[in-house]
Parts: sequence; C-alpha cells; structure tokens
Amino acid sequence: MQRIRVVILSSFTLAVVGIVLFTVILKRPPQYYVRQGIAFGTNVKIAYATKKENSKIVVDAMFDELGKLDRVFNPYRESSELYKLNHSNGKWMKIDPMLLSVLKYSIDFSKETNGEFDPTLGKVVVLWGFNTDDPNKWRLPQPFEISDALKHTSYKYVEFKGNKVRLLNGVWIDLGAIAKGYAVDVLVKMAKANDPDSNGYVDIGGDIGIIGAKYGNQPWKIGVRNPRGTLNDAIAYVYLYKGTIATSGDYERYIISNGKRYYHIFDPKTGYSPNNFESITTISTSGILSDAFGTAAMVGGMEKTEEWSKTFGTAYLIVNEKGHIETNSLWKNYEKP
Ligand code: ADP
Ligand code: MG
Repeated sequence: MQRIRVVILSSFTLAVVGIVLFTVILKRPPQYYVRQGIAFGTNVKIAYATKKENSKIVVDAMFDELGKLDRVFNPYRESSELYKLNHSNGKWMKIDPMLLSVLKYSIDFSKETNGEFDPTLGKVVVLWGFNTDDPNKWRLPQPFEISDALKHTSYKYVEFKGNKVRLLNGVWIDLGAIAKGYAVDVLVKMAKANDPDSNGYVDIGGDIGIIGAKYGNQPWKIGVRNPRGTLNDAIAYVYLYKGTIATSGDYERYIISNGKRYYHIFDPKTGYSPNNFESITTISTSGILSDAFGTAAMVGGMEKTEEWSKTFGTAYLIVNEKGHIETNSLWKNYEKP
C-alpha cells in the first residue's frame, strides 16, 4: 500500500514538474539567431527563430543563397550571368531561371510605369560611375555622353523567346533597383519553408522582409531614415507583423555639382536624376514590388506615385524635395503597434 502511494505520489510530482516545464518552454520567447554580413554591396542582417532548433543551419543556407544570387544578378562581376548577358552581342542567350523571371518582371513593371522604371539604364549608370561604391569614380558626364548612352536604353531592346533572351542595340541591363527586393523574397520563402511558424526578418541594405512577427505575436519596429540626417536619425517608425519595406533615396550615392544634387536614380527620358523626392519608403506584400515601386516613384513624382499606389496596393511615406513628409492612407495601418 505504502509502495503504491509512493508510486502515485512520484508520478503526480513528475506530471506537475512536466506541466510546469512545458509551460515555461512554451512561454519562453524564442531565441533569435542573428548573423550579419555583406552582400549585394551592402550590409545584410538576418534574425531567425524556429522551434526546430536549426536556426543557424537555415540562416547560413540563406547567406549561401545570397552569395549565389549576387553571382547571378551583379552586372559588374565578370563571371555573373547578367554580365554575360550584357556582353552577349545581340545573340540569343539561355539564362538562369531566376534572372529570367526578374528580368521579365522588371520589363512588365517598366510598361506599367510608362517606362519611368527602366532596367535597361545600365550604360547610363556606368557613365555616372554610380555602379561602384567608390565616391572618387562618381562624376557629372558631358551632355553628349548622356545622349549617347540614352541611345542604348529602352526596354524595347529586350526580347524573350522561351527561356532565352536577346539584347539589341547595345543595351545593358541593370537590376539594381529590384534585385535586393527579390533576394528578400527568396530568403523569406526559404525561412518559411523550413518552418511556417518560424519568425524574424531579413534586412538587405534597408530592404526588409518579415519572416514572422517578433516572438510570434509582436510587430517589428522599423525606423524610416531622415534623408538629410545621420544613419540612426529616424523621422518615422512603422510596426510590421508581415510584409516587406524598402527605401529609395537621393542620399547614398550622389554628387553635388554647382550646388545641384545628382544621384544614382535616373529619369530614362533625360539620363539625369529627378528632383521629386529626397526619399520614398514603400510597404507591400512583396519585396520585389516594394523595391521596384520606390525607384519608379522617385522618377514619376507625386501624382503618378499616388496613381500607381492604388494600382499596386502599396503604402508609402515620401520625404518630398522640401523635406516635408507625405503618406498615403495605407501607410496609416502601420503607424501604430
Ligand atoms: P538602392 O538600391 O540604392 O537602395 P534603388 O532600389 O532605388 O536604391 O535602386 C537604385 C538603382 O536602380 C541604381 O543604382 C540603378 O542601378 C538602378 N536605376 C536607376 N534609375 C533607374 C530607373 N529609372 N529604373 C530602374 N532602375 C534604375
Ligand atoms: Mg528599388
């Protein structure tokens, strides 16, 4: 009898201890594995938590994938797929499926934005030297150089046939306005494929994709940089449970000549940078859209940005050329936690 009572008691104690431990483990906020590095010529940060306890393995695989993407999309790396396409002398070339899909997306986006977004500006970008992060190479070209480069710029010079592409008239592709956003989408998908309930975020130079809400149920607080301030000077904050956010601006790669600012985004009609906004930050469900939208908006200006935001369902915060903030109604959804 005594023995039975001891057995019952100890099983009871074990069960209680089990329940307590179980609750503590369940309630414990997930541990984030955080890794930082450089890719796409910019800072990358990934924070990731999963109950599968394989965070490091997954994040390391995400960094490997990023390296692979850079080797496909970097037009200035001699061995890259895009470099080869840009030097294919008008011949049909079978290209990597990822490059094909991003190129098609960007040509479609070009058509949808009246050509304000234009992935064929490669020769113009190089002319200004903004393809490098060395400020000594950034320069104001002569007007004739710009008009020459523009002769080799138009999405009409890009032709598709199955999985092959042909670039006509010496056109060069530059997907700098869209590749980081695409990479964000690819990495978020990888993380979710490992564990749909996992959470964290991917940040590629300010293009951010949310894998899942912080600790499973809290928003990530993200600052919007003051385009005329220092790195950590935020002019606004948003709270994201999901989705993606990207910023385009005139403050990272620029030169000032005769008191005028020229930067790395170009109006394809003129070959010069537009003067509509200091920056635009876009929130949408896809990284590639957020990234492309911002670049197009910098060129399109206020009216078109408003029109396109309705077409694409994008939220935006603009810092206009006077430094004033303008947001659309969708943006309000993210202003509070
Ligand atoms: P960042 O990549 O610096 O965050 P963006 O996403 O706006 O900013 O991309 C800027 C890049 O897009 C430029 O460096 C250039 O390669 C490319 N680009 C410049 N003007 C245009 C344009 N009108 N349409 C599409 N791409 C552009
Ligand atoms: Mg962009």
